[in-house]
Amino acid sequence: MHILVFNAGSSSLKFSMFETADDMREVFKGSFDRFQQGRCDFRFRGGASNESGEMQCASIDVAIAEIPAILKRFGLPDPDAIGHRITHGGARFSSAALLDETTIAAIEALNPLAPLHNPANLQAVRLGRRLWQDRPQVAVFDTAFHQSNPPFATTYAVPKSWREAGLRRYGFHGTSHKYVALRAAQEVGRPLDDLQLVSVHLGNGASVCAVNRGESMDSSMGMTPLEGLVMGTRSGDVDPGAFGFLNREFGLSPAEIENALYNDSGLKGLTGSSDMRDIEDLAATGNREAQLAIEIYAYRAKKYVGAYAAAMGGLDAVVFTGGIGENSPSMRRRICDGLDFMGLQLDHDRNQAVDLANAAAPQIQAYGSRVRVFVTETAEQLMIARETAAVLALPQPAFEPIPVAVSARHVHLSKEAVTALFGPGYALTPETPLRQPGHWAAKERVVLQGPKGQLDRVAILGPIRPRTQIEVSRTDSFSLGINVPVRESGKLDKTPVVTIVGPAGSITTDGLIVAARHIHTNPRDAARLGLEDGEFVDVRVGEPERGLVFARTLVRVGATSFTEMHIDTDEANAAGIGAGAEGAIIDDHATVHARAPI
Ligand code: ADP
Repeated sequence: MHILVFNAGSSSLKFSMFETADDMREVFKGSFDRFQQGRCDFRFRGGASNESGEMQCASIDVAIAEIPAILKRFGLPDPDAIGHRITHGGARFSSAALLDETTIAAIEALNPLAPLHNPANLQAVRLGRRLWQDRPQVAVFDTAFHQSNPPFATTYAVPKSWREAGLRRYGFHGTSHKYVALRAAQEVGRPLDDLQLVSVHLGNGASVCAVNRGESMDSSMGMTPLEGLVMGTRSGDVDPGAFGFLNREFGLSPAEIENALYNDSGLKGLTGSSDMRDIEDLAATGNREAQLAIEIYAYRAKKYVGAYAAAMGGLDAVVFTGGIGENSPSMRRRICDGLDFMGLQLDHDRNQAVDLANAAAPQIQAYGSRVRVFVTETAEQLMIARETAAVLALPQPAFEPIPVAVSARHVHLSKEAVTALFGPGYALTPETPLRQPGHWAAKERVVLQGPKGQLDRVAILGPIRPRTQIEVSRTDSFSLGINVPVRESGKLDKTPVVTIVGPAGSITTDGLIVAARHIHTNPRDAARLGLEDGEFVDVRVGEPERGLVFARTLVRVGATSFTEMHIDTDEANAAGIGAGAEGAIIDDHATVHARAPI
């Protein structure tokens, strides 16, 4: 089997072909970058042939279209499967996923979280699907490894509505951190689950990850790959107060500030060059700016190593990787020097003589150092190929986390009801798209009135339905003073009446229910999850302390549904959960782990 791996950025494309015989072997490696004036640089290596140079090529799209011919020229077959590096998997993806319309839509929905990366990744996915129509394609997420980070590491202390919109820490470079942590564990000769590691990835992008007993516990990158270390052109940690200052002082817009923090900061902002080799050379000539840049870079990385040792409550090894981590002995030394108080001492000769040929992972700590220090090349493409093969070979885990959405009280209105409440010919204004395709929350609100009291500013969800349905929680039913039955959506016979008040009038209508909790899913996910339309399952939701098992959760399979469990606010409060929660279907009272195997 041949797996083609794509690592598509906004200005470069790396791709590799792997052959899966006994082991995973890279048989071809290529890259396109520096797209300028209709030309780009290329580099291809396959078998004994090496090609590099400049070619006519206007964009990454054009480059991708060339790939079938390039593979042919190197004597390689069409791929049997394609694996894609996808930067942001949000809270939705905790492992690699087969790419279909549903997963693509789910990744697209994450674009606001990674506007510079996900659209470029998805463009490669679309072109890949067009070029190799009948070949499965798999998404491997940079964020997935960090889904195990505890809430206290991922939550920003910001207003609730921001957090509910997805503003949290996700972490990136997960594929790299996972690979080098596994590689170090292999060298130590102990299972990763026994070890507390800090992985330090220093490339153009750079991040540190606390790998605590097999799981990522924290990462220096946050909601975006901008947080944390100083990088080639990215600032890393900056006081968010800078936004207001820059706006007031220079009149910069958020987009301008963001662009400068991504592209004109970091090493480039400090010295004019984003390349550590140039900076080290300059520093050696006495250039103070370059010297300061190196000091800042090392200091920031050292702080994270110390912080993560403290966060984990122990440290067995530090692993360096990425262009700088692999190739700069002086940077490794600056980061490690002075850490002997926590049992880490470098051997300067070993540090100087690192040889990474043949995927070696040499140890460079001093004799007697309690903490080991490794250097190894990262192998993101290899990991993507492995995970792609795993998704295709394994039957998907029968049970995997299901995103849980909390529905506050709302109404679905019929055409007649819209007319009565808002006036003839009135069309509701879709304001917020919902995760179910084609569904939205309207800008308009209504009031619900019952014999005991009223509920103001109740949301209206579109599209228009043949029959009006009003969904409230059991607590709401007491506020209204109406006994409301628990019903499946659409089963509205003999349901109580309630008065709905709009700006142009009011109606009193039946259709008032407490919605039965349910899971929306589509035929493909249902098949993978082993679910059938109309069946009831038990789902564990929430943190261990306050989590609950929701018994008798109805499964509803729809052709285009996004897989998601819906519960109401009473249920969410009882389980102590908020945005970004996930549920695990339990089988015979045994929770099945959904984490990807490490
Ligand atoms: P990417 O994140 O784009 O994959 P790399 O992992 O290739 O980036 O890392 C690129 C960085 O590594 C650049 O800053 C480059 O200067 C640095 N680098 C590569 N070789 C050396 C070296 N011998 N000494 C110092 N820095 C190096």
